[in-house]
Amino acid sequence: MTQDVVEEHRDLLYPFCINSVTNGLKLSIHTWIVKTAHHTILIDTCCGNHKDRPTFELAHQLNTPYLDKLAAAGVRPEDVDMVMCTHLHVDHCGWNTQLKDGRWVPTFPKAKYIFSKAEFDQWNPADDRFPKAEINTGVFEDSVLPIIQASQAQMIEGIHALEDSLIIEPAPGHTNGSIVLKIESKGERGLFAGDTLHHATQVLRPEWNSGFCTFPDQSAQTRRGLMEHCAEKNALLMPAHFPPPHAVRVRAKGNNFVFSPE
Ligand SMILES: [Zn+2]
Repeated sequence: MTQDVVEEHRDLLYPFCINSVTNGLKLSIHTWIVKTAHHTILIDTCCGNHKDRPTFELAHQLNTPYLDKLAAAGVRPEDVDMVMCTHLHVDHCGWNTQLKDGRWVPTFPKAKYIFSKAEFDQWNPADDRFPKAEINTGVFEDSVLPIIQASQAQMIEGIHALEDSLIIEPAPGHTNGSIVLKIESKGERGLFAGDTLHHATQVLRPEWNSGFCTFPDQSAQTRRGLMEHCAEKNALLMPAHFPPPHAVRVRAKGNNFVFSPE
């Protein structure tokens, strides 16, 4: 990012998503809960507890009250019908599993876990077409494989409807198999965007990638397309890492975009 754009949009960025004292970028790691008439769906499952993450200190051996907070939001593990992982990075599939009697087992016993086949292939150690990012060390083994072994995985390809108004679309770039969820309800639209963007500065300039984007050119192209969608359809943008209130409304401004937290 460049300082001139930050200065131009100072009122948008501070204090919402840049710390006024340190100038550090403010992020969050959270799960979205979607409740429809038919299903309770979780989107991304954060980092998980008790997991060895030697290459990602932020998530190493956590002991957080995630399930208590989920219960406080009205969701018990057995209530969850679907878990959608936008991708399989360390901070998006941790609570897929929990440690029970020394084994990693699915946290949500009745849920189908949905992710893309392309994403599975990217992280499958048996598939050597893709480099394995060091940051994800251990994730496939303790957070993905146990889901497959429990026959709770549903791998999807291309566009996939969870329900009539809940449509998963491929959004490659951040990772090979990243997916997003478009939602429509009572005339309102929303976009669960995963890590197609990490920070609101990327709304202002969609060509700015994070250091974690595996395929930068494709990532930028995907991001711009999604910002155009949000602006044209007035879709509420709900990424995985925006700080409170976690969602923004996007408007086109010239060739770029601006936003308002909502
Ligand atoms: Zn992430």
